Amino acid sequence: MISEALTRSGVVYLVGAGPGDPGLITVRGAKLLARADVVVYDYLSNPALLSYCPQADSIYVGKKAAHHTLTQDEINTLLIEKARDGRCVVRLKGGDPFVFGRGGEECEALAAAGVRFEVVPGITAALAVPAYAGIPVTHRDFNSSFTLITGHEREEEYKDLESRARAPGAGAQSSDLDWNALAKLPCIAFYMGVKSLPRICSKLIAAGLNPTTPAASIQWGTTPRQKTVVGTITDLADKVAAEKLGSPAITIIGRVVTLRETINWFESKPLFGQTIVVTRTRQQASDLSDRLTDLGAQVIEAPTIEIFPASDTVAIEQALKPDVPWDWVVFTSANSVMQTRKRLLEMRADARAFVGARIAALGQATAKAVREELCLQVDVCPESFVAEALADALEVDRNVNGKRFLLPRADIGRPVLRARLERAGAAHVRDLVLYETRRVERLPDAVLELLAQRRVNWITFTSSSTASNLVQMLGANYADVLSDVRLASIGPITSASLQAHGLVPAAVATTYDLDGLVQAILLATQEKSDGFGK
Ligand code: SAH
Repeated sequence: MISEALTRSGVVYLVGAGPGDPGLITVRGAKLLARADVVVYDYLSNPALLSYCPQADSIYVGKKAAHHTLTQDEINTLLIEKARDGRCVVRLKGGDPFVFGRGGEECEALAAAGVRFEVVPGITAALAVPAYAGIPVTHRDFNSSFTLITGHEREEEYKDLESRARAPGAGAQSSDLDWNALAKLPCIAFYMGVKSLPRICSKLIAAGLNPTTPAASIQWGTTPRQKTVVGTITDLADKVAAEKLGSPAITIIGRVVTLRETINWFESKPLFGQTIVVTRTRQQASDLSDRLTDLGAQVIEAPTIEIFPASDTVAIEQALKPDVPWDWVVFTSANSVMQTRKRLLEMRADARAFVGARIAALGQATAKAVREELCLQVDVCPESFVAEALADALEVDRNVNGKRFLLPRADIGRPVLRARLERAGAAHVRDLVLYETRRVERLPDAVLELLAQRRVNWITFTSSSTASNLVQMLGANYADVLSDVRLASIGPITSASLQAHGLVPAAVATTYDLDGLVQAILLATQEKSDGFGK
């Protein structure tokens, strides 16, 4: 007979979140997140992964929660209850769910309750973290085995009394490890071993492992907070204490550690160690964040502006009607392209609204959006990302005199372009307010906290309004809060807005686009590390 629980559609997926870098979740894991009604996640699964599941209720059950940590029994009950409500539950666990992650116990509880479940393995810390520290866990010259061990730092938490009682080596108090056997192994990864590192190393030496055996501890591996300490099993524990490494960290012991000298690819990225706050609108594509992250930076987004559709829909509908003959349609931002597309779709219209018109775009990113979102080719796109350059480009080819222009844009567009076109003899310039921008009232807590701890290296500004909004959000003592932070500006107009508040950008893009901004940050970071040492 099919049990009652099975006839309902509730299910629990135990999904490995990977070790920290959100790109290291599996494709199946990401797809299940997108389908989830409920996501139950803990301390080591990167919260950035929640962007895959905006639709889901997310429940944090890890350490450091404002409320008390749920016990394992409470977590099991939660999973069972949500599934019995007929919901699709993703239980997101750091690394792999079955590697020192109590996933086995959760499955036992689900099985006992008759709840359907599946397991999606993840990349476990012992594989990924050494890889990001430039340490291959096997190498033909050094080892033909590789062993995963838990350092039993939190023995009481890790195993409850009941499971300890039935574990192999039961009764052996805190450890079931055979140190004499371990001392013969060529490569070992210790999870959860920071506090017990002195004990681990001295036990290995006492059991006969060569005291000069190379070893490394890696904290927050695969993330921009990664920190690696290298030594031998004799001095590693002292070095780790001196560098104040804490949890989560993994320790790898074996000759493969020496390969880091040649293979250390991640920590040598040009922006590794830099914390960068990216100010932007909520709706903007996260192009800039992705680029900075690829270069090794820790990026935190701080939306300063929110976008809303403009209230005057009649004007918009009239301007976008296919029978209105525009000679030129000028897009000045990717947002204006997105909003045009949205309006056209709402009106059940399409790109034929612009039949016969030529298209101009301000900046490469805007041109890209025109091609990709509207399937229109761009006729004019000036090199430099300012309205003056666009007006120049149009005037050079005598494209203005007697012509009709449509300028779909935000409510805060600058009047320069319109004035220039009118002066050059345009027959009609229609400034069409497609969307309104509103200031976000508060910076995200994560950003405020980092600023208070003086841990922000850079803040990027991609428009004048991001500059003035940030200043307003920080309040009266903004200059003090920003005194150690380097500011990066996308171009002269944004720089002028910063300067109007007494702020001097440390990097200004020479081409006024995202590429230019990234280049300027790279250059300034490089100069600083050349000048002052890293
Ligand atoms: N299921 C997880 C392990 C959970 S036990 C996995 O498969 O990876 C928690 C321990 O994992 C931590 O104490 C630490 O030793 C290790 N760990 C997890 N993520 C880590 C990271 N990003 N960097 C270093 N160690 C990590």
